Amino acid sequence: MAKLYFKFGAMNSSKTANALMTKFNYEEKGKRVWLIKPAIDDRDGIETIKSRIGLQATAQVIQKDDSILDLCPIKEIDVIICDECQFLTESQVDDLRIIVSDFDIPVLCFGLRSDFLTHLFPGSRRLFELADSITEIKSICRCGSKATVNARFDEEGNIQTTGDQVLIGGNDTYEGLCWSCYHRMINEQLKRK
Ligand SMILES: [Zn+2]
Repeated sequence: MAKLYFKFGAMNSSKTANALMTKFNYEEKGKRVWLIKPAIDDRDGIETIKSRIGLQATAQVIQKDDSILDLCPIKEIDVIICDECQFLTESQVDDLRIIVSDFDIPVLCFGLRSDFLTHLFPGSRRLFELADSITEIKSICRCGSKATVNARFDEEGNIQTTGDQVLIGGNDTYEGLCWSCYHRMINEQLKRK
């Protein structure tokens, strides 16, 4: 029986590298991989997915209103790998669940658990609800503890505590932190003001 996998991690936990290595492993065994990535803006078509360690591959971009069931070339693939799966809609995760169970095609989703305010992304929430297998790709905070929070910093290096869940075209940067460091840095920032 195929399974729906959710492999989550914080920013810079090499999720994309893991996704691309998984793709390589399947292809080495002669399996056909459909690599997909949800759009966060309205770019469409094919996009190159790059990991920081240099791996890259082309993925089909899934728009917010797309039905994965309609788009999926089910007869031509053996496995689906999704990068940035936190940006899937709930109904797209439902589509993947159906593909796993009705067509016996494994689906591996790689993405973030939560946003810069520590709340679940909609795609991640649905994956926690529906996945057969949930594993954490671990990475560390600057203090050495496990990173669980994805802090968003502005150009001046201030942690953002308000704003949209998905920010397009900003110059902000993200860093995986443990919750204690995240909390302490916000408090220190408040004291300075
Ligand atoms: Zn820390």
